[in-house]
Amino acid sequence: MCHNIIDGRYHTACGHFYAMSTRHHDCLRPNCLFSRRHTHLTGCRSPGCVRLMALPVRNPIRISPTVCSDCISRERIGSLGVQR
Ligand SMILES: [Zn+2]
Ligand SMILES: [Zn+2]
Ligand SMILES: [Zn+2]
Repeated sequence: MCHNIIDGRYHTACGHFYAMSTRHHDCLRPNCLFSRRHTHLTGCRSPGCVRLMALPVRNPIRISPTVCSDCISRERIGSLGVQR
């Protein structure tokens, strides 16, 4: 089954993942609708063909030991709230 690979940045301090680009991983099976090796080029009606894609896989191409910018701004808003 084909799936998408999401390249992105992973922030280890807060565990958030930010997608930068998505690419298609081809399973190269002739019975998969999403594969370029799919045997039925148009109007596939075969019940044996896979019509679903597997869950996307996260591929952290950059790893930041810091928290993400969202978490930084959230922390700022939080500390402002405490001051009030
Ligand atoms: Zn596939
Ligand atoms: Zn087919
Ligand atoms: Zn975060």
